[in-house]
Parts: sequence; C-alpha cells; structure tokens
Amino acid sequence: MKEKILVIHTGGTISMSEDFETGAVKPSETNPIKENSKELLTLADLIIEEPFQLPSPHITTREMLQIKEIIETHLEKKEISGVVITHGTDTLEETAYFLDLTVKTELPIVVTGAMRSSNEIGSDGLYNLISSIKVAKCKEARNKGVLVVLNDEIHTAENVTKTHTSNVSTFQSPQYGPIGIVTKRGIIFHHAPTKRECYPILDVTKKVVLMKAHAGMDSALLLAIKDLGFDGVVIEALGQGNLPPATINGIKALLADKIPIILVSRCFNGIAQDVYEYEGGGKHLKDLGVIFSNGLNGQKARLKLLIALETTNNLKEIEAIFHV
Ligand code: ASP
Repeated sequence: MKEKILVIHTGGTISMSEDFETGAVKPSETNPIKENSKELLTLADLIIEEPFQLPSPHITTREMLQIKEIIETHLEKKEISGVVITHGTDTLEETAYFLDLTVKTELPIVVTGAMRSSNEIGSDGLYNLISSIKVAKCKEARNKGVLVVLNDEIHTAENVTKTHTSNVSTFQSPQYGPIGIVTKRGIIFHHAPTKRECYPILDVTKKVVLMKAHAGMDSALLLAIKDLGFDGVVIEALGQGNLPPATINGIKALLADKIPIILVSRCFNGIAQDVYEYEGGGKHLKDLGVIFSNGLNGQKARLKLLIALETTNNLKEIEAIFHV
C-alpha cells in the first residue's frame, strides 16, 4: 500500500510562472505545480490542500497558524505518513521553524520551494517537490523535527537559512551543514538533531521587533520601540554579542519595563555569548538582564520569542526557553 502524504501548497516561486515577454515572475490563476500531481501519484497517495497562494513576503504568523491547524487536523485522523509544504523561499525558514516549535508529531514535515519558477529553464520546483515527498515517506526522517528539502539536501528548520538571492543552492545550515542528502537511489541521513521542543500555542497575540546592530548605533529606535508598545525585542548584535555604548540607555529603559531583549549575533556563524567586559560588551548586557540566544538567527529568535510570550512573560522562564 502506498503511503498517504499531505501536500499543502501555499504559494511562492514554486507555484509561479515567468511571463516571457516582460520577464516578470508572477502567480497564475491555477497553480502550475498542481498540474504535475499525476506524476507525483506514482510516489505516494497525495491529499492536497491549498489554503492560500501567497508570495512568501506576504506570509505572517496568521498563515503559519493556519498551516499548523491544517496539519493537526490531518494528524488527528491518523491517516497520513508525512507532510510536505510548498512555500516561497524568502520566508520559508520562518514558517518551517514556527511549525517545528509548535506542531507535536513524530512524522516528517518537510518544507520546500523553488528558486526558478515553473516554466523557466532549469526550474527546480517539481524536482524539489519530488525529493520532499520521498523524504516525507521515509521512516528515517521521523523524529527529526521539521525539515527543509531543496537542491538534494535535507536541513533542519532550526539551522537552515536562505543565503543567496537567486542560486538554487541558497539554503544552507551555517556551522552545522545539512543532516542528510537526497540521492538517485534513496535518502541518506548522516546526522540527527539532539533535541526537540514543542510549545502548544493556539494563537500569536504579541508584537516582537527585530533590529540589527551597527557601528554608531544609539538608543533612539530602542526608546521608540518602548513607546510603540512592543512586547519583546530581538537584536542582531555585533560579533560575539556586543552593542555600542550609546544603546545602553535604550536597553535599560526597555528592561525597566520588563520587555524581554533577546540577543543573537549578526555574524553568519557562531553563537552570541557574554564574553566581553566593557560598556556594551556581552557581560555588561547579560548583567543588565539581556537574554542570549543559543545560535538562532534573528528572524527565528523573533518567532521563538513570539511563541514563548504566549506561554509566559517571566524573564527567567523566557531565558530558559532560549537555552533549550
Ligand atoms: N519571492 C518569492 C517568495 O518567497 C521567492 C520564492 O518563492 O522563492 O515567494
């Protein structure tokens, strides 16, 4: 008997076509990737859902919650062996990580996309979808959290990030690498994640802002954030986790209002830690109450803080969540 795989199409380049006259890539009335469903049926029995067709810069936590609910509805029926989600690549890592943190299942959930639209030379959409269905059916893919499959590589949602604007090998996991590969003969996993975490949230109701530190940064935006009523702040700090001294007033003002500040590094590799002891250095920031994250990038730390804030606003508990 063939496995049943739930395929959720959400939009993105994988479901767009190029207008050969103007060169513009855009959505069409019908999703071209669905036209290939017959070929895909040789791989598995597919249950196809298409809740929306959005370019991924249009995706918000509302759509992420909608995808989560669709998956949970099908999980309850206990008829599927895995899930594949097609998604625009721009925010693909965010939806993947959101689902990783919020959907409780051992079954593989695979997120995929394409860098070239359906009718472009070298289009990678159908290929990536086929690879993803193969991974989603694979028993070894179970219990590894949400996976991102493109360009013959299998990455964890936690570590993967989009690294190139147009190259088909854009998805990389800095410092860790992929956990498996897709070959012509099958799926090979060479690593396995060491931990899983799940936060059973029903909604996302808080506001978290993401900022990037730079030379000469001051407190102006941090003070504005406080006045704008944000519930949390993520800062992509300098190097190992340092900020310019002129930000300290803003940091103190936010912390005085019990607004959590999560620090990640703006560096592509490595983990932000409290190493330096000077004004604005990591040790100073940690003493003030800034929370250091365990190697997440800024956009994922923002989602994790949004999710954490649905379960607690206790700073110690939030810190513990960032050290899982
Ligand atoms: N801008 C497109 C999107 O994210 C790019 C893609 O799908 O790859 O929807």
